[in-house]
Amino acid sequence: MKLGIVGLPNVGKSTLFNSLTKAGAESANYPFCTIDPNVGVVAVPDERLNKLAALYNSAKVTPAVIEFVDIAGLVKGASKGEGLGNQFLANIREVDAIVHVVRCFEDTNVIHVDGNINPLRDIETINLELILSDAEILERRIAKTTRGARNDKTLAKELDFLQRLKAYLEAGNLAIGFDTDDEDEQAWIKEYNLLTYKPVIFAANVSEDDLADDGASNEHVAAVRKFAAENNCEVFVISAEIEQEISELDDDEKQMFLEDLGLKESGLDKLIKASYSLLGLISYLTSGEDETRAWTIKKGTKAPQAAGKIHTDFERGFIKAEVVNYQDLLDCGSYSKAKEKGLVGLEGKDYIVKDGDVILFRFNV
Ligand code: GDP
Repeated sequence: MKLGIVGLPNVGKSTLFNSLTKAGAESANYPFCTIDPNVGVVAVPDERLNKLAALYNSAKVTPAVIEFVDIAGLVKGASKGEGLGNQFLANIREVDAIVHVVRCFEDTNVIHVDGNINPLRDIETINLELILSDAEILERRIAKTTRGARNDKTLAKELDFLQRLKAYLEAGNLAIGFDTDDEDEQAWIKEYNLLTYKPVIFAANVSEDDLADDGASNEHVAAVRKFAAENNCEVFVISAEIEQEISELDDDEKQMFLEDLGLKESGLDKLIKASYSLLGLISYLTSGEDETRAWTIKKGTKAPQAAGKIHTDFERGFIKAEVVNYQDLLDCGSYSKAKEKGLVGLEGKDYIVKDGDVILFRFNV
């Protein structure tokens, strides 16, 4: 599962990406790896892990991770091939969700490609490129389906849908806003892998002064919030520059630095958590003397498939899962206490794993 960081040039994408990957490298024991200079594996902050590790005296803590991709180079005209545009659009097609960075900070030393700060115009510029690229995909699909429909009458419905969807995009809308109750249409729109069908989080990049009140007094942030609310997406106020400074600090220093800024949590940490949940991901936990670890699954995953994340043998030989809620376990102070109180459930193969379940799998080898 991957998130792509997009935005116009000079809005702070690389600064954000560098602080994300650096924070990932520092955090816990996760073997940070750079697959590619533009892809970073980032640890998902999870305060439950250290507490659980303390309970079990675990030698090691391993957080869940997600991947971020820095997609630079998206500019006006990208869909027409400007500045290697099509290549960048192809990179976006491979991600599962998008973090759209918008510039809300004023700084005369950092040139804005369109002259002044106007995040709504910037969002529209990027969205337009994504829409044009999607319209082209639909155009090709329409041509193919039109040919097919000459001999196959069953294609008429999809052809009609493709035309309506294309017209909807050409009116300046994003595919994700297309409302349909028809099951065929819902399946098709997913299958086309459209850029504007991917879920989006906005990262409003502000200056240090705007952090303490979460951007409330910044008119640009207000504009982004309004747009996001109308389009059902979330906004996180961050300062990429400050995050870069934070990413150089160790955990204690980071806490002090945040307190000085009047913050409980860094914007980056919030953004990573929100990205994880935007992808529909949750974590279940395992804990023992060797290791306390978060395992990533899709919401709705059943116990055997969740076990399969640890090892395929766990899935194949699955018998039962001993499950206790993280908070219950912590409140009880030990696994045996939780068991005594009847808080440890013995669950079968149809159990749907929940976020924060602490699980011990029983399986046949
Ligand atoms: P990108 O082109 O979107 O990847 O932008 P960069 O991350 O390279 O940033 C462009 C310039 O803006 C760099 O000189 C950064 O130091 C600067 N910059 C990034 N974030 C901030 C910020 O929050 N405040 C200020 N004042 N400058 C920033």
